[in-house]
Amino acid sequence: MNPFTYARAGSAEDAVRRVAAEPGARFLGGGTNLIDLLKEGVMSADAIVDVTRLELRDIAETEDGGLRLGALAKNTATANHELVRTRYPLLSQAILAGATMQLRNMATNGGNLMQRTRCNYFYDTALPCNKREPGSGCGALEGLNRTHAIFGHSEHCIAVHPSDMCIALAALDATVHVRTPQGGMRSIAFEDFHVLPTARADIDNQLAHGELIEAITLPAAGFARHHHYLKVRDRASYAFALVSVAAALDLDAGGRIREARLAMGGVAHKPWRARAAERALRGQAPGEAAFAAAAQAEMAAARPLEHNAYKVELGRHAIVRALHRAAGTA
Ligand code: SF4
Repeated sequence: MNPFTYARAGSAEDAVRRVAAEPGARFLGGGTNLIDLLKEGVMSADAIVDVTRLELRDIAETEDGGLRLGALAKNTATANHELVRTRYPLLSQAILAGATMQLRNMATNGGNLMQRTRCNYFYDTALPCNKREPGSGCGALEGLNRTHAIFGHSEHCIAVHPSDMCIALAALDATVHVRTPQGGMRSIAFEDFHVLPTARADIDNQLAHGELIEAITLPAAGFARHHHYLKVRDRASYAFALVSVAAALDLDAGGRIREARLAMGGVAHKPWRARAAERALRGQAPGEAAFAAAAQAEMAAARPLEHNAYKVELGRHAIVRALHRAAGTA
């Protein structure tokens, strides 16, 4: 680990000012990913600005009937909050599917959005990785890519986004609220927050240096009646998704699908909103035929790599199963 300075921010404005002033500065929240990366030499920092004491922990209703999640609320507190459990149970399920209880007790909501990929080549500093060192190459392209992307990848990077929470946030149409070094705030639609890999594969999201996530908001529609988060992984706990699906349905009085929300994890560099499947579901009666057609519509666009063609079939089955559980038809 390289030497760095440490400062505790007195306010969000102070934190942003300190990080924006120093190109090598980083915010420290729960530290559950950043500290590991610094210790392993995967990332470096010249200055650490500790934001853990800032008053950004509240979880409260918004004026328009939605919910505001403070960026520094812990993942455990968020998943177990009564308003989240009762009105946004999809989010609660997704958070509790991630990591371990100990990690969820430390990890913050803002940090969950900022966590880095778990690509093995990213963590091995002896191997090339465009995300760790742009222009050095991608070890996974010609290497073992069983856990990598099947949608939206490029020759620069084929890694997948690791979060479970973010998959539910994508399905729920969340918004990210960010304090900027210019002294104001800006809001980013969740679907636009994370990006697909470009020649700057080190860039995971559209935050500029010094911008600090203060909150995440959810619209009023929580899909509490018909939802399911399905996570398929190599072992039952403390493993990242091979494929995950956040499914939410709104049914009309006749029982047909008025609105469908589907997002996938483990398949792309960002939470993957399954728009083709959503379109295919609208107006359909819930059931195997409609769910299988929706899964086919989405997975037809998959571009598997040498070792992960299984994810296409797995994704198809995962979509169908998640939809059945959301609809209560299986
Ligand atoms: Fe690095 Fe991305 Fe290639 Fe993994 S897939 S080695 S993170 S560039």
